[in-house]
Amino acid sequence: MGTQLFARGLGSGDCGMLWNTERAELVRSVHDAYRQAGCNLITTNTFGGTAYALALHGTGTAERMAELNRAGAQVAREVANNSAWVLGDVGPFGDFLEPLGDMEADELHSMFRAQIAALADGGVDAILIETMSDPAEMEIALSAAKEATSLPVLATYAFQKSSDGTFRTMMGITVDETVERAVAAGADIVGANCGVELSFPDYLELARQIVRSAGKTPVILQPNAGSPQIVDGETRYNATPDEMAAVVKPLLDIGVRIVGGCCGTSPTLLAAMSRKITC
Ligand SMILES: [Zn+2]
Repeated sequence: MGTQLFARGLGSGDCGMLWNTERAELVRSVHDAYRQAGCNLITTNTFGGTAYALALHGTGTAERMAELNRAGAQVAREVANNSAWVLGDVGPFGDFLEPLGDMEADELHSMFRAQIAALADGGVDAILIETMSDPAEMEIALSAAKEATSLPVLATYAFQKSSDGTFRTMMGITVDETVERAVAAGADIVGANCGVELSFPDYLELARQIVRSAGKTPVILQPNAGSPQIVDGETRYNATPDEMAAVVKPLLDIGVRIVGGCCGTSPTLLAAMSRKITC
């Protein structure tokens, strides 16, 4: 979603969620492109949708939290109609919990709960809590989701490969711990999205470990379009459709049940991946 909004003229540092009301036709065109690409699940434009994250965009934005989340859900719902599922996107609040930061668990819980209630109000089919690094934040978001709705909840973390070769979140937490804590907190589906500097073989190994940790809980994996390269100050993802498509069958063979894409996975790349599943 981020990559696609930037391609449609969103400036870096601008609040993309304002487009859910002010440029809804452009957000709709992103969802349309992914539906045309064969995606069965589309993700709302609400990643930075807590009041805390919205407040970073200046005065007045946080006050519109419920409206912007509800509008993001509605525009995706219109495109999905009844032929695709809409995932209500919830990203990290953007700072650290106490004691590393200032955010208290109770306050964060009520912020997540309010965002998720607005997404549910707008008609999403499930809640996707993604790109998490801190299992404590994930637990708070899961608890808020379970209080706010009875919808299924997907819980995914961003991993990187540490110097000893293990996969850990930015907070240094292992695959086993992140997955076990998310499942214990009520996640209906667990997995990984995004990631830092992971190769395609890395994503496959990560998937293997998540499937092993998850036990009976279904697993979702959403890799980036390769490792980013910085060109002229811009972040670019250079994976080809063939490279992305080649990941799909190995992921399914490992036991992943839902395959998607994160940063840089354009509709062209998702179409190549989608053809591997439907053909
Ligand atoms: Zn990403």
